[in-house]
Amino acid sequence: MSSTADIAIIGGGIAGLSLAAAIGDRASVVVLEAEAELFHHTSSRSAEQMQPTYGPAPVRALTTASIPLVDEKARRAGRPVYVPRPLLWLHSAAERAPFDTLLATVPGLTEIGAAEAVRMLPALRPELLVDAAVDLSAVEVDVPLLLAWYRADAVGAGATVLTGARVTRVERVGQAWRLTAGAETVEAPVVVDAAGAWVDLVAALFGVRPRGLTPKRRTVAVAPARRAVDPGWPMASDVADRFYFRPRGAAILASALEDVISEPEDAQPLERDVATVIDRVNAVTDLDLGTPITTWTGLRTLSPDTSPVVGFDDAVPGFYWLAGQGGYGIQTSAALARYAAADLLGVEHGLAGLDDVAAQLSPSRF
Ligand SMILES: Cc1cc2nc3c(=O)[nH]c(=O)nc-3n(C[C@H](O)[C@H](O)[C@H](O)COP(=O)(O)OP(=O)(O)OC[C@H]3O[C@@H](n4cnc5c(N)ncnc54)[C@H](O)[C@@H]3O)c2cc1C
Repeated sequence: MSSTADIAIIGGGIAGLSLAAAIGDRASVVVLEAEAELFHHTSSRSAEQMQPTYGPAPVRALTTASIPLVDEKARRAGRPVYVPRPLLWLHSAAERAPFDTLLATVPGLTEIGAAEAVRMLPALRPELLVDAAVDLSAVEVDVPLLLAWYRADAVGAGATVLTGARVTRVERVGQAWRLTAGAETVEAPVVVDAAGAWVDLVAALFGVRPRGLTPKRRTVAVAPARRAVDPGWPMASDVADRFYFRPRGAAILASALEDVISEPEDAQPLERDVATVIDRVNAVTDLDLGTPITTWTGLRTLSPDTSPVVGFDDAVPGFYWLAGQGGYGIQTSAALARYAAADLLGVEHGLAGLDDVAAQLSPSRF
């Protein structure tokens, strides 16, 4: 089938669908997703957190702006989407520098000391903890619900969503791009590259200079504990990046934060990585985690400075980047989508706290 649109979005993850939802009925949109279902890759493999003190400055600003946008949606839908999940930053290693740097550079954190951290999260081994800080604004988000909302809003506004549609060929036809995805062809003057781990490969189809967007593996394990777990405990994150964990019902969701470069692919957990997660969490707690109930691995795609890459390409006409969300694509999605939609449509985004963001996200900075 052949169709035309004002904007074609390549990638049916949270980035592509949140953007289609934010554009709404202000332009005609076609979303092309390679897999048979939406959200098959990284978007369905996160830790489901929105943490305003996590990530580089533009990510923190976008996360702070996203939380009320999603909350507003929840209020209108009459369904809660968040669980309060304060983020404890733990200083448990001998080296103090990462903790001091965190406190000095990230507003919104309160230093609480080791004893208060153990009071909030009694599974921690007090003798290993040197200090701690807390971000009380962090939340856990119901990601399946958020994804369903983005999809419903996009389709409700008239977007066409094509699955099983991997874009493999691109031609310039007059002022438009013609995209070929199996039996589908779509022509649009503007194309958004929201292809997650595949963004640089998709850019290459257009003759666009790659921006060094690198997919990196990260594995999560959900495991039962041999001591009682309070589902209301905070999320705990090591400032030296060796682990994070939080309750997931009566079990524990944890990661060893591995950062291993990967090809774009359907990443799967490795036994070695799962064992590392369990060992590291057991070393700093009395949780005594057992064999995981479930595990998954996703690809976080990072730019060289770890901030997203969003904006029109400076050399190739009608090519728009929505890429490099790294480990922050859920928590930034609402504000980033509104920002990109406004940029594409040439209108104001109307979001507070994002004045410096355009330069920080610009594809031209690389
Ligand atoms: C273990 C882990 C934990 C995480 N935890 C969090 C968290 O707590 N909070 C948070 O904010 N973020 C978290 N993240 C990051 C977050 O999940 C990602 O930033 C986000 O999902 C990226 O979304 P995306 O839409 O860019 O990518 P994807 O979901 O991967 O979507 C890209 C889509 O593009 C499609 N595609 C590729 N090439 C083509 C083509 N040629 N034609 C058509 N379609 C194509 C792919 O099939 C894919 O479906 C985590 C990530 C991992 C791995």
